Parts: sequence; structure tokens; C-alpha cells
Amino acid sequence: MTALLSIRDVSVDLSAGGWFGGTAPLNILAGVTLEIVPGETLGLVGESGSGKTTLARAVLGLQPISGGRVRFDGRDLIQPADFRAIRSRTALMFQDATASLSPRMTVGEAVTEPFAIHGVAVNNHRDKAAELLVEVGLPPEMAARYPHELSGGQARRVGVARALALKPALVIADEPTAGLDVSVQAEILNLMADLKDKHGLSYLIITHNLALVRHVADRIAVLYLGRLVETGPTRAIFADPRHPYTRSLTAAEPKPDPRKRRTDLAIRGEIPSILRRPNGCEFHTRCPLARDICRTQPPALKDLDHGRAARCHFAENTTEGGRHELEY
Ligand code: SF4
Repeated sequence: MTALLSIRDVSVDLSAGGWFGGTAPLNILAGVTLEIVPGETLGLVGESGSGKTTLARAVLGLQPISGGRVRFDGRDLIQPADFRAIRSRTALMFQDATASLSPRMTVGEAVTEPFAIHGVAVNNHRDKAAELLVEVGLPPEMAARYPHELSGGQARRVGVARALALKPALVIADEPTAGLDVSVQAEILNLMADLKDKHGLSYLIITHNLALVRHVADRIAVLYLGRLVETGPTRAIFADPRHPYTRSLTAAEPKPDPRKRRTDLAIRGEIPSILRRPNGCEFHTRCPLARDICRTQPPALKDLDHGRAARCHFAENTTEGGRHELEY
């Protein structure tokens, strides 16, 4: 199937100097390659500082790239005009839904604002707002309310309605359930799943929440220091993660029985600064499997079975069966 979104070898450098105190560019994203096919949900996972949001901004044309290629529906996105042309087909759901809504706009004005921004004529704004609100499970009367009168879940639904207004093909959702109660999180995820089925949407979900992507993503991509370290189908990655970072993330996922949490796989320390990228494998300072080779030789992203890939010298040996060889 042809990719809806294709990201090939994309890098983002920020110029250093000034208050960074150096002259070499800072490599925020390093040669990331990803694809999303129509109707697919890709979960982009990583800690804060891993480059997830930078990648989303690059896809939307909000962050210039210094290398590689972004294509949407077969069209190369290079000039600002290219991004403008596809902007009505991509939508962004913000992490802080309430803060992303103007406090001076009613809900009805907020959900129909994308039409004005993109110059799309609407016969009756009130009917359109009601239609969008009903689609996300809110009563039409809510169009008259202001953001401060909404609960967190209602604000999130308004954010979904606004994102859907122009019938996008791709929705980029930044931490779509952050800050919500567990029951409201489930409601928002069910709503997103229903809308995906109804409209054939694709999602790029940006999160540090493994439990979230486990339930909604078809495939997962794991970023570490702006580099793709593992990618593959969600079920395969949770059943048998091949990169120790992914293993650590999945092991740290909250479990109903805390005694089942794997403490031997816990990630050590903090993510290093991009100002001081470690030599060799950039995860070696925190990796429970690190060996001498890891401190000097950067591993390549290795293609594995079933459409999977992992960036680890021992990607073939890090399964449960091979762990003893590495004295895990
Ligand atoms: Fe760990 Fe070495 Fe694999 Fe890097 S290459 S993830 S340090 S085992």
C-alpha cells in the first residue's frame, strides 16, 4: 500500500552558538525514516528530549529539516507552499486542549475556525458547529460555552472536533490523554478509534505512555536522542522487544501486580544531553547490556523479521532465549 506519510532519512539541526556556547550544529533528529499507510496508527514513543515533537513539527512544516525528505500522499514537501497545500489534510491535536483554545472564543467559534483559516466557505456556522460537536459526543448547546467552562475531557473532545473539521487524512495527536482520569482517557481513545474507522483516518500518536500505544497503535517507533532505535508491529514489540531501551520502557510500564515489574531491566539515569552525545551506541550509558564494543562503535539500524528493525549490536540476541548469552 502506498504510504500516506513518508519520512526518509530526516535530520534536524539547530545552529549552536549563542547561549549554547558552541559552533557545531546540534543534531536534534538524526536520519529518521518512518511511514504511515492510510488507516494506520503509528505510536511515536520516547522520553522527553527524544525528538518526538520535533519530528511532528517537521511533518507539519513548522520545523525546517536539514536533510532527508518528507512526502505526503506522494507529494514532496519542500517549500512552504507544499506544506500549505496539504495543511487542510493534516490536523494537530494538542496536548493541553484547554490552553490551545482561545479563552475569548466560544466552543462553536473554535471548532469552525479552521474553515476561516483555510478559506473554506461554510453555509451555516451554527449548524456546522453542532454537527462537529455531535460527532465527538458533545451536545450542540455546548457551542455557546467558553473553554474555562469545560472539563478536561470535554476540552479534549472539542480539540478532536476542531481537528476533524476539515476532514483530514492524518491526525497528529500529541499526548492525547495526558492529564485525564483513566476513565476519561478510555473514552477519548474509544472516540479516536471510532472516528478512525468511520473516516479512514491515520494517526501519528506522540507519547511517552507505553500503555496508550499498546492499545491503539498498529505499529510503534521508538526514538532515543533523535534517533530511531526500534520499530515494528505493536504486538511483536511488546511480546519481544529487541532493543534494550524498548525492553526497559515496556518493563517499566505500570502493571496491575507490581511484583511482575522487571526491575533488572530498569533504565539507569537520565537521558543524556544532545550537547554531549555519548560515543558508540548512544544508549550505552544507561544500557544494562552494554559491552566494550558499545562504547566505541555505533550500531546500525538492523532489519529483523516481520517488518521489524532495531539499532543494537545484539538485536538478534536480546530475546528471552538469547539473554543468558549476554548475562542479562
Ligand atoms: Fe545496549 Fe550495546 Fe545494544 Fe547499545 S548496542 S543498546 S549499549 S547492548
